[in-house]
Amino acid sequence: MATSTAATLEKVVSLCKRKGFVFQSCDIYGGLNGVYDFGPLGVALKNHIKDLWIKEITQFPEDVVMLDGALLGHQDVWKASGHLENFSDPMVDCMNCKKRFRADELDLEKPCQSCGVKNWTDVRQFMLMFQTQLGAMSDKASTAYLRPETAQTIFTNFKNVTSSTRVKVPFGIAQIGKSFRNEITPKQFLFRVREFEQMELEFFCSPDESDKFFDLWLQRRRDFYKKLGLNKENLRFRKHKPNELAHYSKYCTDVEYCFPFGWKELEGIAHRGDYDLTQHSNHSGKDLSYFDATTNKKFMPHVVECSVGVDRLMLTILFDAYREDNVKGEQRTYLALSPTLAPITAAILPLTKKLSENAHKLFIDLKQKGFSVQFDEAGSVGKRYRRQDEIGTPVCCTYDFDSENDACVTVRNRDTLAQERISIDAVASYLQKLKA
Ligand code: ATP
Repeated sequence: MATSTAATLEKVVSLCKRKGFVFQSCDIYGGLNGVYDFGPLGVALKNHIKDLWIKEITQFPEDVVMLDGALLGHQDVWKASGHLENFSDPMVDCMNCKKRFRADELDLEKPCQSCGVKNWTDVRQFMLMFQTQLGAMSDKASTAYLRPETAQTIFTNFKNVTSSTRVKVPFGIAQIGKSFRNEITPKQFLFRVREFEQMELEFFCSPDESDKFFDLWLQRRRDFYKKLGLNKENLRFRKHKPNELAHYSKYCTDVEYCFPFGWKELEGIAHRGDYDLTQHSNHSGKDLSYFDATTNKKFMPHVVECSVGVDRLMLTILFDAYREDNVKGEQRTYLALSPTLAPITAAILPLTKKLSENAHKLFIDLKQKGFSVQFDEAGSVGKRYRRQDEIGTPVCCTYDFDSENDACVTVRNRDTLAQERISIDAVASYLQKLKA
């Protein structure tokens, strides 16, 4: 069985559309650039990624609590965070073909890659935040921004969380939610989009312990990616050089993945010092420092941040899982997704429609037990296997004529193609074990 991980951007985009993972948003109107809708399987995969992330970051001795902040943000928040002043990319236009580019991704000494003519405009800074107005007035006071990251709502709610719950530093506030960036050139499918979801953890600790917790979270994130089962050769942790660091950041390490279009950032892990809480204290006039009752000391907590995009991680997982092989002379495409992430855990297939009624009983039983299962009685069993392989279903359970007598089904493994006969009563515990 020859297996290849021949994932290309085109193949993954096509599979996502064909199988209902991801659709171009508003495609019946020609599409909205850099904006995507998630279909049934995409939602399931995303939810499994998010569940795993929450499970991973909340398993440690220190508390990590969740927040769901608003998408619309007060302009003063973005002033304090530095986004209003600095959150921009350099932009340049080709005066010949009118195409627009990020100037830091081009060599402006060379002609335009699109039309071959060298005729650039001056480089301008382009603000990446989406601006909007609240209410009927369109004056400066009513200006608000769609958040370009979830982190700032965590910082602005730091006092609310510490005074309304029993958490004590060191602890973390985590958030999963939408962020918006008006990227100049959205590209590479889900990699760079204008509306996306982030999973961010802001971990608050005393200045003395901040280096220790930075190292600890680095290790914990390594363990997370190990558990995801991503191909080790395509994953690396890259420490930022001093000249790459934001002025307030002590250390930063990017988790990078080798996409078909090169090594790119997947997650950022940063020691942010006390920059954020200090900025918000100064701008709001509210003291956001923390009083530690056990040591009788007041200090501004330091922050370790772990920030990853759900969409970018989903794309990574799809690239990593994409496989093509040859089964009995027939080309097969499949997703080698782990059972924890796969949108569907098992498919129940009656060999013929005559057996549907009893096979359906197994399907309903598994559904009621909380498994994500599909029932498929259409077409040859081989075709049905292919359909499930392509969406990454780890196992198919075939109910055949023998099942009527021995109360067993044949369970076929997506990756090894091995088949085993197991009792219908044992299918639920079999699937449970698979997902563990
Ligand atoms: P990049 O350099 O790729 O633009 P960044 O350094 O600006 O990323 P951060 O601000 O650190 O990104 O955001 C944290 C994470 O959020 C990124 O590692 C990525 O997974 C995700 N992310 C950021 N921007 C986008 C985007 N436009 N589309 C999809 N995901 C994004």
